[in-house]
Amino acid sequence: MNVYDSARMAEILAPLGYAPGDDPEDADMVILNTCHIREKASDKVYSELGRLRKAKARRAEEGSPMVIAVAGCVAQAEGEEMLRRAPYVDIVLGPQTYHRLPEMVARAHRAGDGAGAPDQRGVLDTEFPADSKFDHLPDRQDANAVSAFLSIQEGCDKFCTFCVVPYTRGAEFSRPVAQVLEEARQLVDGGVRELTLLGQNVNAYHGVDEAGQEAGLGTLVERFAALEGVARIRYTTSHPRDVDDALIAAHGNVDALMPFLHLPVQSGSDRILEAMNRGHDVAQYLDTVARLRAARPDLALSCDFIVGFPGESDADFEATLDLVRTVGFTMAYSFKYSSRPGTPAAGMPRQVPEDVKDERLARLQALLEEQRQAFNAETVGRTLDVLFERPGRHPGQLVGRSPYNQAVHVATTEHQVGDIAKVAIDSCKPHSLEGHIVGSGSAQPREDSEERLSA
Ligand code: SAH
Ligand code: SF4
Repeated sequence: MNVYDSARMAEILAPLGYAPGDDPEDADMVILNTCHIREKASDKVYSELGRLRKAKARRAEEGSPMVIAVAGCVAQAEGEEMLRRAPYVDIVLGPQTYHRLPEMVARAHRAGDGAGAPDQRGVLDTEFPADSKFDHLPDRQDANAVSAFLSIQEGCDKFCTFCVVPYTRGAEFSRPVAQVLEEARQLVDGGVRELTLLGQNVNAYHGVDEAGQEAGLGTLVERFAALEGVARIRYTTSHPRDVDDALIAAHGNVDALMPFLHLPVQSGSDRILEAMNRGHDVAQYLDTVARLRAARPDLALSCDFIVGFPGESDADFEATLDLVRTVGFTMAYSFKYSSRPGTPAAGMPRQVPEDVKDERLARLQALLEEQRQAFNAETVGRTLDVLFERPGRHPGQLVGRSPYNQAVHVATTEHQVGDIAKVAIDSCKPHSLEGHIVGSGSAQPREDSEERLSA
């Protein structure tokens, strides 16, 4: 979502004469778009700011000022404190106010021109405005992109005990159906063929449609699939509690909806799921997976895990490994629990020592990596539809994505970026597949679905 937000910030600043640059040292303005989800991510912001401070000082000596802005969830969480701790920062803005960037930049320039102590000059905007930023953003300009993100939902009301998102992104909010369809149309007009619908809990989507009725994600996916030019749809991140029948049906009925789903479970222990306030148990998760696979037998799953949540015992952790073995994931992200200020879990007793977290993370990642490699190996010999996204490193080579989001390298002269082709997979490397063209793509990557992963 930060990638999406950054692209939109660039769009809103374009009329002011700003364009994305490669080297922060030479930039008139640098915006750090930050993530607060784990401690490491927040720490990085200050080390990055330290570097920018030097670049800003050097440029000031040369008479060319640099505006430094910090956006995103660290900015939201720290607010004023950030301006105090790093007084050379000009603008601190939250994830819900970036439509006001032009105004903030103007204010920062005025303050920079004027007198006053440096720590009084910072512009701060970390409000949760009543009107949505999406009502104020310009048209999409993802020129030449084949695949694009589209935020349809933001924020979260679930309050998992480890998580800062409800505090930094704010309350759950769904954009209206007509608005997101219009954004999709702009993207498709610019050549986009694959849309990834985004939300912190994207399947909690309940936007109002043209008739004033609430539409769920299942319905919305059908609406996107009906748009001329949309070949592929993905969505992320979904919550197991919000997988409803209509969404499961969409996985069965909508060919453009790719058979790859990110469905985080965090832990395989009922006790820990309860302490996390996830609102479901292991049996419910497995049941949801079974119903999804019944609708779409070739569905591949990816997941998020947290190890070392407060109170997690060896047995709880073993239960997580069991769940991984039972479900079988194509890939997954796994993290050591990171205590976040202001969240209920931060104050829980029995915090798990760092070395235990390290050891559990290594064991979990070894198992997940084994499953990922096995999945890639299983695709060798199959024919998959590949959407080409960019030229490869070698002349005459294109790199694309399989329906399961695997990178696929193909030598071809008759296809170009944006095409979908049928590719027979010949071999796999640790992070990519190689194949050769056997026909043009149908945009309906389903024909070999019966061979897919059994649970
Ligand atoms: N809404 C999604 C997740 C969004 S946060 C869901 O509920 O599944 C993305 C991932 O970051 C989470 O799935 C979780 O695995 C991880 N995460 C969030 N807070 C964390 C914390 N305090 N420590 C470690 N990992 C965390
Ligand atoms: Fe965070 Fe996801 Fe839980 Fe919301 S549902 S609080 S975003 S982990």
